[in-house]
Order: sequence, then structure tokens, then C-alpha cells
Amino acid sequence: MLNAETYFVPTPAIPASDKLAIAQFRKALKQPKAPQAKNIKLDNTYILHETATVVVLASGFTKPSANAKTGPMIQIWILNKAENPMESVLSGSDSNNCLNCFFRPALFHDALQQGLIPQGSKRCYVNKSKAPRSLWVKFTKGGYTALPSIELFRHKSVRFGAYGEPVLIPLEIVASIVDVAKMHTGYTHDWRNPLRSGYKRFFMASTMESDYAEAKRLGWRAFSVATQSNGADSLCPASHEFRAAHPGRKPIQCIDCGLCSGLSRKDSHGQLIENRARDIFIPAHA
Ligand code: SF4
Repeated sequence: MLNAETYFVPTPAIPASDKLAIAQFRKALKQPKAPQAKNIKLDNTYILHETATVVVLASGFTKPSANAKTGPMIQIWILNKAENPMESVLSGSDSNNCLNCFFRPALFHDALQQGLIPQGSKRCYVNKSKAPRSLWVKFTKGGYTALPSIELFRHKSVRFGAYGEPVLIPLEIVASIVDVAKMHTGYTHDWRNPLRSGYKRFFMASTMESDYAEAKRLGWRAFSVATQSNGADSLCPASHEFRAAHPGRKPIQCIDCGLCSGLSRKDSHGQLIENRARDIFIPAHA
């Protein structure tokens, strides 16, 4: 278990207007339940959403994810339909599924030169030749069907954005999944966009030391790449640094931690409540 004093010290209260929005959102979620997922022969991966440019896939229903950092969470992938992920990063068409993320190869060098991301940062860590590529190839061959029921997410742990921008998933779908899931995590680089403000309920703003304050001013909880704590955040317990500081301790995975769930989280009764945890930081070289 995480140290409550370190990770759950009170943060400034969410403004009353935000509380109202959360309450309205929760009320809106009291929709009729989808059919039970009984008697459905499960596939491992389903299409969650599709537009002209992107497809959103959810995987891990029969074969749990082996991701060592997250643990066996349902992984949600946002893929560019036009090109396979490896070609997308070369052509720059990954702007379809990753929007303006500075860690895209097309933007990374300039962002580093301009000091928009810290020295020592690495490009996007997602290996496009592995899962993103194989998912994309199977999708283009018609290998996946639409999610048969939102109930498949019930009591599951969900990672929004194993690759790609999760704000490209319609907010109602995110809310419906969070409503039935056990816990979730999610991060967006597009937090400056006012059209994304609804997602702050569920996702963290991906920030750096240079723009952390702006994200806070806009009301986000933040996951920062930073050289050190700013005093209002805590070290990611899945980081190398945390593990080095706690030798002999069982490694913590996102599925055990769940701090990166934006402004809301599930309580022990499965109710969606305000998340008053501190922000999170991870060292730039991690
Ligand atoms: S703080 Fe927790 S949920 Fe967030 S990345 Fe680290 S381990 Fe995962």
C-alpha cells in the first residue's frame, strides 16, 4: 500500500463550480445499464470507437496485459487508420492519433531545442513495432469487432492511452467505462485545449516543469516530467527512483496505485468521488 501521508495530503479543494459539474456528470451516468456480458464469447480486443482518421481499440479481455509498469490493465489504443504506426511517425501523420504531443518524433527535436521539454528527455517511449503495429495490421484486415457491451469493463482496471491521445475517445464513452470499471488511469498532452476540459475529471495533464503551473491554473491534476519535486507533487511509485529509495519493497504497478485518474477516483464502494491526491512527477531520465 502507498504511504497515505505522502500521497494523500489534502490539495486545494475543487472549486464549487467544478463540484457541481462532477455531480451533474455523475447524475448523467445513471443511465440504464447495458446488457450483462453473460454468454458472450470474449475476444481479447474490440473496437471501442472509430472515426474517419482514428480507431480506438481496447485489449486485454482474455489475455491480460504483460506491461510491467501498469500491471494487467485493459489497454486502450488510439491508432491512426491511414498508416501503420511505424510509418505514421516517419511521415508525421501520427498527428491524427497523437495530436500535438511534443514527444512525437516530428516535434521532439524542436521542442527540446526550444526548452519546451527538459534536457535528458527521451522521445515517445511506445515501441510502435510491437503491439501498435500488430493491432493496426489486424484491424486493417477486419480482425476486430465492435465492443458488444460496456459491461465487459465492469470491475476491470483500465489504462486509457497505451498509445495515442485518449481525448480522442468521446467523453461519454470514457465516462461510461469509468462508471463500471474498478479503476483507471489516463494522461493527455492536449490539456491546454479548452475543448478538452471535461476530460480533467478522468485524465491527468501531461506536463513539464515549464508548463506545470499553467495546467494547475486550468484546474488539472498533473503528471510531470521534472528534475525534482515541486513540493505539491509526489514521486511516481513505479519509477526507478522510487524503487531505488525503497529496496526490497514489492514493486508498485499502476493497477495497485491508481493515482493518475484525474480529478475523480473510485472509493472502496465503487463510487466515483473527488480525487484529492497530490500531483505526480517522474524524473526526466526515467
Ligand atoms: S503514480 Fe501510480 S498510476 Fe500514476 S504512473 Fe505512477 S504508478 Fe501509475
